[in-house]
Amino acid sequence: MNLFSIFGDPVSHSRSPLMHNYVFKSLNIKACYSRTHLSDGSQLRDVFFAKALSGANVTIPHKEAAYAQCDEVRGIAKTIQAVNTLVLEEGKLIGYNTDAEGFMRAIESFGTLRNALILGAGGTARALSIALRQGAITPTVLNRSQGRLDYFKKEEIESYSWDNFTPAPYDLIINTTSAGLSDDELPISKPLLIELLSQTKGAIDVIYGKETPFLREVKTTALPYKDGSDMLLAQGVLASHLFLSGAFSLDTIETPMKASFSL
Ligand code: NDP
Repeated sequence: MNLFSIFGDPVSHSRSPLMHNYVFKSLNIKACYSRTHLSDGSQLRDVFFAKALSGANVTIPHKEAAYAQCDEVRGIAKTIQAVNTLVLEEGKLIGYNTDAEGFMRAIESFGTLRNALILGAGGTARALSIALRQGAITPTVLNRSQGRLDYFKKEEIESYSWDNFTPAPYDLIINTTSAGLSDDELPISKPLLIELLSQTKGAIDVIYGKETPFLREVKTTALPYKDGSDMLLAQGVLASHLFLSGAFSLDTIETPMKASFSL
């Protein structure tokens, strides 16, 4: 029996156990995916090995800590410096980032985009900014504090804190902050959000499974919008493909994983 888990704080909201276990069951794979609440991210590697896991996902706020504890990091995760998928390979902890590609698949429905404003500067904002840039969509980052902007400055991605930001038109407004996840806060002030929404073509919140104050505000406009469900599905399919060492195609995994959303 191969064991998998998701690490986070909070982690009780995560749909990943349901999604991955449904794939295992549907494809007759002997494996089990659990939830691990972890408050100290520096313990991630030790807990992974203590639980004898074959793979894991990592959610807030441990993606950067996970990156630091891998034996090897592959693909776009090397630039992002944040890892959301861990796979054990020959005793080594290998790190990947499936959020980036998952997000790009999720925004295909918005059509052609020239630029996007990312609210937040955590691990998800890093992943999305690098993915957007690779997809020829210019990212700009807006965060409530300065502390996490160094990464974006080094990557030469335009970035601002609330103190020095001037609104401009962006084709897509993306909420990657955890505002609204377990509180009732907007990621930026209401007047600023209203102004940004009046100049954009669409909005997406990466939080899923609930109507955040951000999405509630977006819904008062006629803009196309989505929550984080499509991204969740796409990143999950890519992670499962890695967990199962490529033995099943992405389409074969996607069908049961998508079906798990209506359970
Ligand atoms: P991090 O903890 O790394 O970053 C959180 C960011 O949110 C920081 O920039 C922080 O700002 C900002 N923030 C937190 N609270 C507030 C607030 N009240 N107002 C304004 N800004 C705030 O988180 P992650 O990047 O890992 O994840 C962010 C969100 O994305 C989570 O809700 C997670 O569930 C979701 N997610 C969804 C996915 C999906 O598949 N749909 C995939 C990945 C993530 P500061 O720097 O000032 O502290």
